[in-house]
Amino acid sequence: MHNERIEFPNSAPEPLLIVGSVAYDDIITPTETGARVLGGSASYASLAASYFTAPRLVGVVGKDFEEKDRERFRLHGIDTEGVATDFSGPTLYWRGKYQENYNRRDTLDIQLGVFEHFRPELPAAWLETPYVLLANIAPELQLHVLEQVKKPRFVVADSMDLWINIARPALEQVIARADMFVVNDSEAEELTGEKNLINAGARLRDFGAKTVVVKKGEHGAMLFHEDGLFALPAYPVTRLLDPTGAGDSFAGTLLAVLAALQRTDFGAIKTAMLYATAVASLTVEAFSCDRLEGAGAEEIAARVKRLRAMVQLDD
Ligand code: AMP
Repeated sequence: MHNERIEFPNSAPEPLLIVGSVAYDDIITPTETGARVLGGSASYASLAASYFTAPRLVGVVGKDFEEKDRERFRLHGIDTEGVATDFSGPTLYWRGKYQENYNRRDTLDIQLGVFEHFRPELPAAWLETPYVLLANIAPELQLHVLEQVKKPRFVVADSMDLWINIARPALEQVIARADMFVVNDSEAEELTGEKNLINAGARLRDFGAKTVVVKKGEHGAMLFHEDGLFALPAYPVTRLLDPTGAGDSFAGTLLAVLAALQRTDFGAIKTAMLYATAVASLTVEAFSCDRLEGAGAEEIAARVKRLRAMVQLDD
């Protein structure tokens, strides 16, 4: 369990608001299964972000949510004042299965539970949070958060294939209002109709997001920014166990590093991508948030160092 922060020279981390899902997941991988493990986009994102700043978590849990799981957030300095408990139903439940080589994941079951009637309402003291992560959740709810926050400095939005299929107009509004949209390669293709990733990234910027990051799983991530393109390989993981939450940890870390640096320029985003890549690589080495929670600042710093070496040229 970590309670340590990674600090950057001359910076004082600013608060970060994270809205997304808190869930219980059943996960089937080619080698093992995880039963009713803590999941949800906001869980992964906030635990990842907690290495860099104090996240403010907004979400909802049901009557079955266990106190020990709430404690996991608190232990990491995550403010859970914005996590409502709705006793009228269960916590979001998701069941996913990975194919033999992990390159495809199928949703076998999803039960929205208390998410069915959820409207995120921010505590008054959180309305002016400068950094806002709209983690994967119904885009209508992401928009509802955007209507409440006052002049945020930087908004990052994430999503998933489900919303492209059933809530595309609202998702396009979210993308148009975000400073940065993070998306995986297959979703980028689905959204734009472009098979070429470079064209897809450019098209997504035409949708209105100022900056786009396309995640390519084990092949790394690519940044599309007005100052240029940047590509980073994935951290070389050899003990892949459960990829669930990698994208959420990536997004949470990315914005948390910007909040810690108090900068959102091209250079800061590149640095944030290094950290996001390192932290996401930890998530996939265990089920749920276990490895993410158990790692420490030193382990993350070592992975960042190795990644830096991997992209370094001598001349
Ligand atoms: P990722 O692997 O980064 O795509 O994130 C997986 C997490 O997303 C799991 O822990 C699920 O609980 C959560 N999730 C799955 N479907 C949904 C959904 N429709 N809305 C919000 N969260 C979801």
